[in-house]
Amino acid sequence: MSDVALHLPPRPRVGIFGGTFDPPHVGHLVTAVNVRHALALDVVLLVVANEPWQKEGSRLISPAEDRYALTVAAVGEVEGVEASRIELDREGPSYTADTLRHLKSSLPDAQFFMILGRDAAAGLFTWERYEEVVAGSRLVVVDRPGASAPLPTGLGWLRVEVPHLEVSSTDLRARVLDGRPLDYLLTASVMDEVHSRGLYRARP
Ligand code: ATP
Ligand code: MG
Repeated sequence: MSDVALHLPPRPRVGIFGGTFDPPHVGHLVTAVNVRHALALDVVLLVVANEPWQKEGSRLISPAEDRYALTVAAVGEVEGVEASRIELDREGPSYTADTLRHLKSSLPDAQFFMILGRDAAAGLFTWERYEEVVAGSRLVVVDRPGASAPLPTGLGWLRVEVPHLEVSSTDLRARVLDGRPLDYLLTASVMDEVHSRGLYRARP
């Protein structure tokens, strides 16, 4: 994060796009660059969850360092989009309220935009201390194919239109397991990392 702070203007507009990123795919990247453009953000941070506590127990989650390396590969040289490891460095369960608090202390003059796909947005009230997130950032939602749950009302959502891409990490993991192609659903650099780390294959 300190690196990010170095090249930001004095009152930066910062997008926070959190996820498990297991693996990161074109749906994430297209969302990040289009929201950045639409809202004139200086940077969008892809914040990799250390322990995605709401998903734990439902499936095997890849090690956080692997997911972070994939996310670094995904953002590559894309201008204004960066991978953040602040939740890994904090350790323990990843609560967005803590991440926002941390970012506010490193960037006290920044304006924060919390970017959520429609499925994640619909569950906002289940988050730990969601009130802090609502009070400390502008909430941004993008539509996602297959997600139609109602948005929590009264929160002043900013809606950004992005290309609707029917891609999910769940489908990508299933593709690796079945040997189906991943090409064009994630970047070639992420695909290389998935294969070289042996992720999503059947376990003995
Ligand atoms: P999984 O299938 O494992 O849940 P995912 O594809 O939903 O993975 P996440 O890491 O859970 O990816 O999502 C992180 C954020 O990205 C969430 O806010 C989610 O709504 C959003 N998102 C994921 N895929 C898309 C997509 N295709 N279009 C728009 N937003 C997306
Ligand atoms: Mg998801």
